[in-house]
Amino acid sequence: MKIAAIVTDIEGTTSSIGFVHNVLFPYALKHIGNFVREHCEERDVMRVLVRLSESTGIPLHKIETMIKLLEQWIKDDVKNTELKALQGMVWEKGYKQGLYQAHVYPDVPEVLQKWQQEERNLYVYSSGSIKAQQLFFRFSDSGDMRLLFSGYFDTTIGPKREVDSYENIAQAIALKPESILFISDVKEELDAAEAAGFKTTWVIRPQDTSLDPERAQAKTSHPVVTSFDQIKVD
Ligand SMILES: [Mg+2]
Repeated sequence: MKIAAIVTDIEGTTSSIGFVHNVLFPYALKHIGNFVREHCEERDVMRVLVRLSESTGIPLHKIETMIKLLEQWIKDDVKNTELKALQGMVWEKGYKQGLYQAHVYPDVPEVLQKWQQEERNLYVYSSGSIKAQQLFFRFSDSGDMRLLFSGYFDTTIGPKREVDSYENIAQAIALKPESILFISDVKEELDAAEAAGFKTTWVIRPQDTSLDPERAQAKTSHPVVTSFDQIKVD
């Protein structure tokens, strides 16, 4: 069956894990306090703080207590919807000021373009929020890549290591699982996608991992590649 859609992970797949961990997370940690102090009266920020107050029991006027909690969550890499929303706003400011650009491996844009020309729809599935994914590809070091993608999925569709999530994605894009290729650097995600009927490819980026591609290939049925131009779609 022809592959009609390709779903890709970001961290460790299209992009280095280092960028997120060494640039984005420290930036959010450094700036989230002042961002909340400066913008807490604005509607978008206030709305998130209200939800945070409701879910944690911290009174809305205790802004400093909330900030401490948010900072702790960033350090502990806690997956929380309100934190993600605020982080997205903080990152947006940094991107727009040109303080950093999202890293994309140089082999990626050309291959995505080729797949798009072959009339395959491209999607992103990442644990970062959809807003963060869109910022990422808007302000990438290869330019604005948003036109390449037909849609974005985050963990609101389900956790990345669960079979159901991939069934939900197939349903959301109205395609049979066998006609979708999922690309990731994490074997457990690929196993889940495969169990849902997806085709898979395991990207092992030597810059991101100490895994040996040949040894990995010997132990798995997922095709292993070290860059996007090695991916065989059909
Ligand atoms: Mg990944």
